[in-house]
Amino acid sequence: MEDKLDELKARLVEYKNLESAAWVLSWDQQTYMPAGGAEARGRQVATLERLAHETLTDPAIGTLLDDLHPWAETLPYDSDDASLVRVTRREYERQARLPSEFVARLAAHQARSYAAWAEARPQNDFARVRPFLERTLDLSRELSEYYPGYEHIADPLIDRNDFGVKASTLRQLFAQLRNQLAPLVEAITAQPAPDDHFLRRSFPSEKQQAFFLDVVQAFGFDLNRGRQDVSPHPFTTNFSIDDVRFTVRFQEHDPKDALFSAFHEAGHAMYEQGIAQALEATTLAMGTSAGVHESQSRLWENRVGRSRPFWTHYYPKLQALFPAQLGDVALESFYRAVNKVERSLIRTDADEVTYGLHIILRFDLELRLLEGSLTVRDLPEAWREGMRATLGIVPPDDRDGVLQDVHWYAGCIGGHFQGYALGNLLGAQFYAAALQAHPEIPAEMEQGHFGTLHGWLKEQIYQHGSKYTTAELLERVTGSQLLVEPYIDYIKAKYGEIYQI
Ligand code: ZN
Repeated sequence: MEDKLDELKARLVEYKNLESAAWVLSWDQQTYMPAGGAEARGRQVATLERLAHETLTDPAIGTLLDDLHPWAETLPYDSDDASLVRVTRREYERQARLPSEFVARLAAHQARSYAAWAEARPQNDFARVRPFLERTLDLSRELSEYYPGYEHIADPLIDRNDFGVKASTLRQLFAQLRNQLAPLVEAITAQPAPDDHFLRRSFPSEKQQAFFLDVVQAFGFDLNRGRQDVSPHPFTTNFSIDDVRFTVRFQEHDPKDALFSAFHEAGHAMYEQGIAQALEATTLAMGTSAGVHESQSRLWENRVGRSRPFWTHYYPKLQALFPAQLGDVALESFYRAVNKVERSLIRTDADEVTYGLHIILRFDLELRLLEGSLTVRDLPEAWREGMRATLGIVPPDDRDGVLQDVHWYAGCIGGHFQGYALGNLLGAQFYAAALQAHPEIPAEMEQGHFGTLHGWLKEQIYQHGSKYTTAELLERVTGSQLLVEPYIDYIKAKYGEIYQI
């Protein structure tokens, strides 16, 4: 069995090497590659993705997994070896359904579509990306068809990022969430809005960067095993546990964008950096799901980065860096400004209360596109209608409407957005468990110390990589199933205090 296990691991190293090389190319495309490189890059990524797919779905891996299965069953469930066999088998079975030719075709299309979107968004030119998006919808449907027997056509797409989660479950969950959030937004926006005019002063990007790099290192992000660059849409990727990259984008007159994106992406990045070294270059060396990943990013962005204890420590430092911009602004005014609740256009900049509504809109549109009840041609108008109905605000153009998020243009339609809403719920449950274990966390934060929180997350969540499914991890860490209440309770308590309702 040892020989077979060694052979499996050696083959998975080959697979991970190819996959990581493809990710390096995608990272480069989104950060440094000149626009002219898009056609060649699509070809190059397609070749690597095809080779990676062929390596993972080689029937020899299937045979090894079959041979190892009975032995792995005798090991403790959470041992590295049993988990490796179990999770690889799941991934093998999922990937083996897809022809390598399809994987290459999809990757090539996604790289070209991303390049078209990167040009089209600044020019507010939906017509430019429309044919790409139509093709993406076809390919997304084709992907689902490789998994016949699904309950909803979105299910196979959701399953890729949030294993075992179904559209029907999400529909119910999101209806609950919407019913709770909508009246809160009504009540809050009926109150006087906090003054935040000072956040539109000029904040040079070098100083924004100096500030957030200081903060994310204090959180626990290791710059010796990671780096930060700039891209049109913030993201995190990794090529190894020891090489994790994240990006931000800068807006001189809106420092919230880069600062909170950096806290958010650092949350993703610390999760990947915190995976146990023993799992390096295996199928276990990644976060377990989009939902758990977002629980970590949004935890650092919001529970830490938008909290009063955090700013009690960091606001004087931010003021020292920007004396002309913030010297006349008190801590309490700044705290209220960065927690301003408003009906706004951009998801990534949305406050904690309205954020979930942005996700629900996207999820609804995805399902309608996949079901065929909405066409890509009618998508921009459906977006405007959806914004009016969900958030009570209509974008003046497509740039800040249907073109704002990279996901549909660089990935599939379906499976990308539910993770953000699940992440809010999971994050609330994880953070409650952290506070229960260590009630001193907020007091430490006020001193600029995050070691207890980071250590607890590493111990409870990060180190395991994808050993446990989302449901298993949640049960292990909190003893509970997925719940809406802890998140809603937190929102009510925090914003009830800020808005005195
Ligand atoms: Zn994220």
